[in-house]
Amino acid sequence: MRLVLLGPPGSGKGTYASRLNIRLGVPHISTGHIVRDEIKAGTELGKQIRRYSDRGGLVPDEIIIEMLQARLDRPDCAKGFILDGFPRTIPQADALGKIAEIDLVINLNVPDEIIIQRLSNRLVCRRCGAIFNTLTLKPKKDLICDECGGELYTRDDDRPEVIKERLTVYRRETAPLIEHYRNKELLKDVYCDDLKTSPEVIVERIISIVSNLGLLQP
Ligand SMILES: [Zn+2]
Repeated sequence: MRLVLLGPPGSGKGTYASRLNIRLGVPHISTGHIVRDEIKAGTELGKQIRRYSDRGGLVPDEIIIEMLQARLDRPDCAKGFILDGFPRTIPQADALGKIAEIDLVINLNVPDEIIIQRLSNRLVCRRCGAIFNTLTLKPKKDLICDECGGELYTRDDDRPEVIKERLTVYRRETAPLIEHYRNKELLKDVYCDDLKTSPEVIVERIISIVSNLGLLQP
């Protein structure tokens, strides 16, 4: 089960992926996490990545692909994986196609108003990075992390005007990718039109698609 999750920032990709991995028995692989781990571990690759981001540039595709390939070669990916945050462009999809055959691409469709509502109410813990939401996942105490007692804050790029810009960039970049996978008949749409729909409901929708395609592993 080699699954790619596509969806705009704030669509809940990470949340769904971390629940799907338990249900599907394959690891959740986020290129964002891999990059952060390499930087944290101070590997040669991590240092290279840091040089790019210190200069305000994007990490080149070759580096991301190299890291991803190393990750997908690990034994826990033998039965597959759930890929979150990659690919974002056609060249990345082509590169991915050379290192892994994708079974299914889930395209999360979430209206902008819902994303803006969700992200602008998001709170992040300064200490451990746990995520809360004043609408859907309130911390037990105001502005205090349930996990570690750290302080919760609103990230700069979760302000509505910044979210709108991020969505515009996402739609421009990803529209061709959606077409690319649709043409290959690998893409299935999942709709989340209501802020109150729980993650479990969306996860069940994805599982039933996987199951209907005969991709569920015993
Ligand atoms: Zn915390």
